[in-house]
Amino acid sequence: MSQELLSDLRAIVGNSNVLTSDDPGSDLNAWESDWRKLAQGRALAVVRPASTLQVSEIVRACSKHRVSLVPQGGNTGLVVGSTPDGSGRQVVLSLLAMNKVRRLDPANASITVDAGCVLQNVQDICEKEGLLFPLSLGAEGSCTIGGNLATNAGGTQVLRFGNARDLCLGLEVVTAEGEVWSDLSGLRKNNTGYDLRNLFIGSEGTLGIITGATLKTFPLPAATLTSFVAIASVEAAVELLKLANSRLGPSLTGFELMNQEGLSLVAKHYPQQRVPLWESSAYCVLMEASDHESEAHARTLFEQLLEQAFEDGLVTDAVIAESIGQSKALWHVRESISLAQADEGPNLKHDISLPISSIPRFVEEVDAALQQAFPGVRIINFGHLGDGNLHYNIQAATDDRDGMQLGEVRSEITEAVYEAVARFGGSFSAEHGVGALKLNEMERYKAPAALRLMGKLKAALDPQGLLNPGRVVPRSADFSA
Ligand code: FAD
Repeated sequence: MSQELLSDLRAIVGNSNVLTSDDPGSDLNAWESDWRKLAQGRALAVVRPASTLQVSEIVRACSKHRVSLVPQGGNTGLVVGSTPDGSGRQVVLSLLAMNKVRRLDPANASITVDAGCVLQNVQDICEKEGLLFPLSLGAEGSCTIGGNLATNAGGTQVLRFGNARDLCLGLEVVTAEGEVWSDLSGLRKNNTGYDLRNLFIGSEGTLGIITGATLKTFPLPAATLTSFVAIASVEAAVELLKLANSRLGPSLTGFELMNQEGLSLVAKHYPQQRVPLWESSAYCVLMEASDHESEAHARTLFEQLLEQAFEDGLVTDAVIAESIGQSKALWHVRESISLAQADEGPNLKHDISLPISSIPRFVEEVDAALQQAFPGVRIINFGHLGDGNLHYNIQAATDDRDGMQLGEVRSEITEAVYEAVARFGGSFSAEHGVGALKLNEMERYKAPAALRLMGKLKAALDPQGLLNPGRVVPRSADFSA
């Protein structure tokens, strides 16, 4: 049966685009293991379609043989959503070969692309035309538009432009039956029934395969300025955010919090990077302002903001980047925290969101509780404070190099963090999604009525349970076959 399916797939995409572990010298590891190396799967095959029609034929072939499909873009997801399980019976559908820009429409302020386009390429193409595509995240050199939409990615510009969902005008999707639904006209208003686009966005490949998207573009700002400031507490950071919002309004395009422990890891592992201000301060904030008038205008606004922040006692020290190079270097510090954590050794990640006003009390309470219950563990707290999104991560104690002690208390720590998140009205997954990693949390914290509705939607749109089974919807709520 598998052989029959493989020959059907080869007939659709050609021999060279169906990869199996039986091929001489083949190594499918890049598709079978996830970015964080949390899971190692085994695929029946990796299939690389070049067109929407091919995706549709592949889905029909898999449906005929009742073989499930795992859509994959750049495989940079952080919740084990894009790799096959260990059965050797799932097909990985890699969208990377579908990487064409279909249409740039400056008058409609939109761009239509294949789902496999790498995010950075889309940003670059827009920039060459004097346009901005504002979705921006650490993995932008590898992640794809399809993956960004399937996970409703966030990143550093959400404060001003929203999540991937807010940047999407339309989708093209291959359904579980192999039908193509296309809505790429780029309309900003279209109240004709259920919002199918928003159903597929954030569904992590469990309801349909995104093959194309029409995205919003924006005018490029005349100048972008970055500032790195030292701050004594999370409370002061929230006050600074309020002040920056009122002074800069929509020009405030980034507001990132970083604690001293996280910055110390960047300084330790990447001595070639200059990490400013961290040694004398419990927290630092990276602020970005984008201005449509001029650099001088942006600088004046920024300087006035900082003057007020010093006067109010919110900021203890500050630097403003003098060039694009310096600005990139400051962002690079922020983006290096995750990598420095990986280099430092075993750690736990919590991608959480909270009402911004609750964050100071949350951090104070949870920091204290963890430090008391698990002495020695290091709290690496950083993230998109402007969106209420923290990466509240835990690094093994310095004498726990292999992470044995952390491993023993991992579930206790995670439970303590998520219990507090629930108590403060937050979410256990702000921007990374659910994948296979957070199914227990779905069962525990998601409202039963929401789970039942999700299960019914899954069963209605994918009755055979063909698309990325075992992801997002817990088994107990999954009514598909
Ligand atoms: P993949 O990892 O390949 O897939 C992710 C999920 O989407 C899987 O469930 C997969 O089945 C599904 N999928 C992929 N393509 C399609 C498709 N065409 N149709 C249907 N389903 C599909 N995320 C953030 O939100 N904000 C950040 O700031 C951020 N920073 C990151 C920094 C680093 C260094 C790394 C490694 C990751 C980061 N991420 C971040 C997570 C990740 O980059 C995003 O989730 C990204 O959107 C995934 O895109 P991808 O193409 O790699 O998708």
